[in-house]
Amino acid sequence: MNQLEELLSHLNESQRQAVAYNEGPSLVIAGAGSGKTRVLTYKIAYLLLSGLHPSSILALTFTNKAAREMKERIATLVGRDKAKWLWMGTFHSIFSRMLRAEAEKLGFTSGFTIYDTADSKSLLKTIIKELQLDDKVYKPAVIHGRISFAKNNLLTADKYQSNGDLYKADSAARIPRTGDIYALYASRCRQANAMDFDDLLLYTNILFRDYPDVLNNYRQRFAFILVDEYQDTNFAQHLIVKRLAEQHQRISVVGDDAQSIYSFRGANIDNILKFKNHFPDSKLFKLEQNYRSTQNIVAAANSLIQKNKTQIQKNVFSENAKGQRIQVFSAMTDTEEGFNIANKVSEIHLTQHHPFSDFAILYRTNAQSRIFEEALRKRNIPYKIYGGLSFYQRKEIKDVLAYFRLVINPYDEEALKRVINYPARGIGDTTVGKISDCAHLHHVSMWEVLSDPLQFNLGVNAGTAGKLSKFRELIFSFIEKSPQLDAYEMAQEVVKGAGIMADVSVDTSPENLSKQENLQELVSGMHEFCEQRVNEGETEIGLVSFMSEVSLLTDQDNTNDEDAEKLTMMTIHSAKGLEFRNVFIVGMEEGLFPSGYVDSESEVEEERRLFYVAITRAEEQCFISYAKSRFRNGQLNFQNPSRFLGDIDQQYLDLPIDYKTMYGRRQERSIDQERELFSSPTAYNRPQPASTNVGSHETNKWKKLSNSSGGSTTQAVQSAGGIAVGNTVRHEKFGIGQVVNIENVDGNNKATVDFGTNGTRALLLKYAKLEVI
Ligand code: ATP
Ligand code: MG
Repeated sequence: MNQLEELLSHLNESQRQAVAYNEGPSLVIAGAGSGKTRVLTYKIAYLLLSGLHPSSILALTFTNKAAREMKERIATLVGRDKAKWLWMGTFHSIFSRMLRAEAEKLGFTSGFTIYDTADSKSLLKTIIKELQLDDKVYKPAVIHGRISFAKNNLLTADKYQSNGDLYKADSAARIPRTGDIYALYASRCRQANAMDFDDLLLYTNILFRDYPDVLNNYRQRFAFILVDEYQDTNFAQHLIVKRLAEQHQRISVVGDDAQSIYSFRGANIDNILKFKNHFPDSKLFKLEQNYRSTQNIVAAANSLIQKNKTQIQKNVFSENAKGQRIQVFSAMTDTEEGFNIANKVSEIHLTQHHPFSDFAILYRTNAQSRIFEEALRKRNIPYKIYGGLSFYQRKEIKDVLAYFRLVINPYDEEALKRVINYPARGIGDTTVGKISDCAHLHHVSMWEVLSDPLQFNLGVNAGTAGKLSKFRELIFSFIEKSPQLDAYEMAQEVVKGAGIMADVSVDTSPENLSKQENLQELVSGMHEFCEQRVNEGETEIGLVSFMSEVSLLTDQDNTNDEDAEKLTMMTIHSAKGLEFRNVFIVGMEEGLFPSGYVDSESEVEEERRLFYVAITRAEEQCFISYAKSRFRNGQLNFQNPSRFLGDIDQQYLDLPIDYKTMYGRRQERSIDQERELFSSPTAYNRPQPASTNVGSHETNKWKKLSNSSGGSTTQAVQSAGGIAVGNTVRHEKFGIGQVVNIENVDGNNKATVDFGTNGTRALLLKYAKLEVI
């Protein structure tokens, strides 16, 4: 067997065909877990073994982590030497590299700053204030969303301003000045030598449009282009790919329309659906066998996604074990939900010996993680969280990074504003306001004003002028040293020289101690960065290369800890493309999942796709859980189970008794009844029993149930044998639970107790030893 045959032998027939077809454009559309990413990985290995030079292959992934993993895999297939030279990464990281090389053509310098969302919003806030608009109406987050959407559709500020339809839409939303804000925002970014995330794609397109020689150069350099997760590309990304590939047509993309979950960020599912329109000679491959999950999980996911009207029909099957049904847990409260999940994780860990790294808890929103953190900590289960407030978003770290940014690009206004008076050096808001006003009046950056306060007639007293000049000299001294020092040395220089370490060392409160630790962690992380780069044979180990990596981290790269033996917690969005042996999908409630913000049918379909993504992450066991009450935004809400639970064919689910009673016989209900049960965001909107106490609500329901059972004489009672409805009790075998009902059946007292993950059990009080706690 030659090397190519050996490589292909690890694939099934349809995957083999997709990998070996390289005569023209190709598209793989297939369901989750069917090996799309594997096809892409093997195709790259195949091309390398066929003699293509690694530096002529461009592979675009959704996260940096996915790129690293793919590179690693290719290294094991064809050797590290070859894999090393591949152009592999996210759109943002690859094209920011390119933009740095070509920055001057676009009026930037190669050291341009990449503004993160917080920087963008802060700049927008300033502009909204400057234009004397009300930031309650012109909410920075909303305006940011509009600008981002415009950029992803390649609408520059002047195009936006002259577009009548957009003006009408903005006027209808009572934000008619959005175009003006956008224009000012764009010019301020330019003055600050900064690009935001969306600019990276916008400017790449502008570069390709206005500089045909540059485009040609890259067309030749990237002889083969591959894209994973194509369903989540936006128009700007699609156009970059199209421009690069349309001449040589050597392009291969893979994706799944059923997993398109980023339309809120401008992703356009049409890019994959209409691939053939853009590349008419493209060949379509379908993969049908799922290698990831048990048969039950695949069937459950299939039955769910069938409920979406817009979808490409697929036949996905699994030849893996049949597996267990998806177990659904209901909890009284969100706290109990956390407790249930932690219990179940422990149980599987102990009885089935799965390491904690085999578990993932997936939620709809980052805010849900806290409850699970507490529950896991109590159980001593190690975990790591992706997303949320990452290490690099902590205040003390952002302060240091702002210094780094200034060293690389002193025109960076957001960075300058952040540290001009940190640590405190007596430069007040009024002075900063004067500098900023003066800069904008003269159309220069704040740094230029600062560099020559006399020329700009700043109007500050001698004392303030002295402080400003000291700050300027400090930054200037860093700038001078920067070319000679590596990132690690520079970090030490800044943390000490700017007085940051001294500032956080003044008191020893726990909060400050953790700040010190974080700063040390940053500095030692930079040490590691330099070492690693040197080991990889890289010579660029300065602040610039460190910062260009940091500013491009995505949610999936943001983990607070890289250690292996830990349970993973993340949002479902971040879990795309990943797989875990045991998956817990939590907070499966109306108003949370689907999110309370969705109302149109297409938005509901996107949420359903999100649920599909969640289920299909599971290899062996999948669990779904919901709570009947939950604190959200400081308020206790009564929650209904998500309508999506009812979308899964019930033969694949193990439902809790209470769900079956309330919602189970779906087919027999009228549409109106359905709507009443599933559509209300909280139980407040539903007819409620007189009391809103969760315990007694349950009692009523159970009463009804027992009354209708007929036959023997059954009588509901509130308490018996020292145990009352609503009590929390401990049982030797089933653990801790809540008494939801007590009844007297033919003279015997029987308590129904909800033990969370251990099920709801009816126990005869004369036998069961229940201890009230
Ligand atoms: P998603 O839609 O979630 O991104 P995918 O289609 O990209 O999924 P992969 O991640 O490539 O699927 O594959 C799913 C799992 O199945 C992986 O663990 C992969 O290694 C395995 N797999 C795929 N094809 C084969 C095969 N032919 N033989 C053995 N394992 C396979
Ligand atoms: Mg994949």
